[in-house]
Amino acid sequence: MFAKRIYDVAVVGAGPVGLISALLLHKSGANVVVLESEPTTETRSYALALNPDALAVIKELGLLDQVLEEALQVETMRFHIEGKHKGDVHIAGYDEAFPWLAVLGQDRLESILENALTAKGVPIFRNHRVCRVEQDSTKATLYVDELDECLTGYAVVRMDWQVVRSHEFNCSFVIGADGHNSAVRRSLKTDFPVFDQSQQFAVFEFDTNWKPDGRMHIALSQGLTNVLWPLPGGSCRWSFELTGDAKDIFASRDSRGSLYHGNRNLNVAALKGLLAVRAPWFDGTVNGLYWSTVVKFDKRLVTSFGRNRVWLAGDAAHITGPVGVQSMNMGILEAGNLTAIITDCLRGKRSVAELELYGREALANWEVLSGNNVRMEAGAQMWPELRPYMPRLLQCLPGKPRAIQRLAEQVHVMLV
Ligand SMILES: Cc1cc2nc3c(=O)[nH]c(=O)nc-3n(C[C@H](O)[C@H](O)[C@H](O)COP(=O)(O)OP(=O)(O)OC[C@H]3O[C@@H](n4cnc5c(N)ncnc54)[C@H](O)[C@@H]3O)c2cc1C
Repeated sequence: MFAKRIYDVAVVGAGPVGLISALLLHKSGANVVVLESEPTTETRSYALALNPDALAVIKELGLLDQVLEEALQVETMRFHIEGKHKGDVHIAGYDEAFPWLAVLGQDRLESILENALTAKGVPIFRNHRVCRVEQDSTKATLYVDELDECLTGYAVVRMDWQVVRSHEFNCSFVIGADGHNSAVRRSLKTDFPVFDQSQQFAVFEFDTNWKPDGRMHIALSQGLTNVLWPLPGGSCRWSFELTGDAKDIFASRDSRGSLYHGNRNLNVAALKGLLAVRAPWFDGTVNGLYWSTVVKFDKRLVTSFGRNRVWLAGDAAHITGPVGVQSMNMGILEAGNLTAIITDCLRGKRSVAELELYGREALANWEVLSGNNVRMEAGAQMWPELRPYMPRLLQCLPGKPRAIQRLAEQVHVMLV
């Protein structure tokens, strides 16, 4: 059965970037719908810090107090190299209005955003998987499968997701905020090439007596990047980059012999072993290890952010390493820029062709963040120990290129 629906804008994906896009569009008076394939929001903290640019967008939405009520504020990024404290980078040098990062799990952020959308009556169609998008000069059409849990199986009955209805949504514009495996990107037939080697991290979250004192820590050790984030409520997250050899330590084989990354070897002993070698200065206790996993981060950037009526934002267009929380935060900035132009188009103040401006600016930012269009130069006062890690610095700092430049200057590194 086909049901046709008509909106100004369809946002594909109810991750942080999609939800913020929808809130911004609703605020500007657009008739917006969110289509999401999953039944619920994330249940893990994943990306866990909002940078000053993202906080400015959250403020514009009137949600800043709610976010700050739950978030921890991090004013300083403390750098350690080969086990020794070398110096600090202060977020105040990025933005005086928000001189800190707000640390808050992605699950909590998504639930604040989704509650706000629901309170405003914006429809979020969950279990609606966008299969493809087509566009012509007047509209875009989304072909969407509605999913439901059904009993399947013959001898052994099990629950499975099946397509129960198909829908067509017609709209003036589409924002593809549907993450790294984006169906909108595939419909645009946009390439998504690799720009750098992928990284894998062993991630541990645990309760601790460690006192963050407004700092997060970056521990550069043995050519690898390791990160400590304080979390609200007296816990913290350590992420340790894995080398080729270490990847195998944490990998397990399932009963069919396939490799998977389970929790079996990611235990307190492994955590303590990594801390002893890579961060001997960490003196917090490990009281309760409540989450551990291995995550692989590919590094990819689209060749184009979209065309005419269909545009990408967030992980649908770029994915990178986790240290500088760049992909989600830049995605939030992109949501702000893209929705502003779409709003003007809907009001007849700009032509659809002007959306190319969004695409060009977003791509230019990522040409820098991916390292394709930038060089790093050491100033005379740079710590000598930082030299082998200089290429890593770009992806460790949270923000758009101009902000990263200001932060890098604090460690006497210039972006040219
Ligand atoms: C285990 C893990 C740990 C991470 N840790 C970090 C970290 O430490 N730091 C960091 O910066 N980042 C981290 N990330 C990445 C971070 O989560 C992403 O950058 C962020 O979620 C991007 O937000 P987004 O809204 O662009 O996309 P997403 O959050 O991926 O949201 C996309 C949404 O689209 C939906 N969707 C997908 N396809 C369709 C479709 N066809 N139809 C409808 N809906 C669809 C998905 O279900 C999802 O809800 C981590 C990710 C993972 C998985």
